[in-house]
Amino acid sequence: MNLPAALLAVLLSFGPSTYTVKPGDTLYSIATAQGTTVSALTALNRLQSPSVRVGQLLQLSSTVAAPAVQQIAGVTVTAPAQVRMGDAFVLRLSGTRAQEATVRFPSEVGEDVRLPNEVLKPVVSAGGTLVFGRVVLGKTTPVVYEIRVGEDVMRGSIPVTDQRQATQHLNLPSSISSRMQDPARKAEEEAVERAYALRTAQQWSQPFQVALSTRLTASAFGQPRTYTAGSPVVYHYGEDYLAKPGTPVRAVNAGVVVVAGKYPVRGGLVVIDHGLGITSLYFHQRRVLVRVGQTVERGQQLGEVGSEGVSNAPHLHLELRVRGEATRPAQWMNRIWPQ
Ligand SMILES: [Zn+2]
Repeated sequence: MNLPAALLAVLLSFGPSTYTVKPGDTLYSIATAQGTTVSALTALNRLQSPSVRVGQLLQLSSTVAAPAVQQIAGVTVTAPAQVRMGDAFVLRLSGTRAQEATVRFPSEVGEDVRLPNEVLKPVVSAGGTLVFGRVVLGKTTPVVYEIRVGEDVMRGSIPVTDQRQATQHLNLPSSISSRMQDPARKAEEEAVERAYALRTAQQWSQPFQVALSTRLTASAFGQPRTYTAGSPVVYHYGEDYLAKPGTPVRAVNAGVVVVAGKYPVRGGLVVIDHGLGITSLYFHQRRVLVRVGQTVERGQQLGEVGSEGVSNAPHLHLELRVRGEATRPAQWMNRIWPQ
């Protein structure tokens, strides 16, 4: 038998981590026997219903190896060995046909993710040929990626580790929490969603840098929290920097201002589009000094720290999003690509 290299790579990566459905099997019995869950198998195999048929080949989430390097049709793909929920990461492609490849993340189907399974073209830059991935907060099943080069298709997966943080109960006074119900909130959400949908060219060439040099608060990125007693648990999508009111807030990198104004929840808000689906958001400012459409440089002042919107003390809430999903800001700082 003389297998093409691409097929061999697929067999090597999936051979020991698939299961063929046998008579009498149910999704539940398979999940139990394989140490995974029905929901994980459903998501991983993109099943439309919980019924399986004899002979069906299932991918098993819990045992999929982390292929650090795989090859397909002359393209070498390098993926992180593992990621955490809330991570941004890059898949690196190399080889003569790397720029012909398209990449998707099929595991996003069925997840609470904007534009799941989007067909992505790799970015070609001095850092190589790469595609951004994101691990939405709350996700614990592996990230599955699919690379296409011409007629060749390859899949790989990256295990996700849970960060397991205790839920923080903010118990905000109703004078602050009522802003969550402000009628103007609809326009606010629409403004940020428009920014998240942008797919412009890369605007930055230098490493990202912090927006404020003050210390972070105890409210960590990704922390589950409630705003008032009994309210639903939501994730903290950014990092909080404590600072005196009026402290300059600076752009983490070059880009174009796509939102600038005062909003009920985020207060004085600036959103910068850095290109490639990457946005940074700066919340709760008492003054905003830039306008929509303006190009900003890394380190340029955007506004002043305040406590506007849903906030109980002067601070900057900073977010860094990949195609609209919040990623860990600290991961971006002092480097050009997330790690
Ligand atoms: Zn915050």
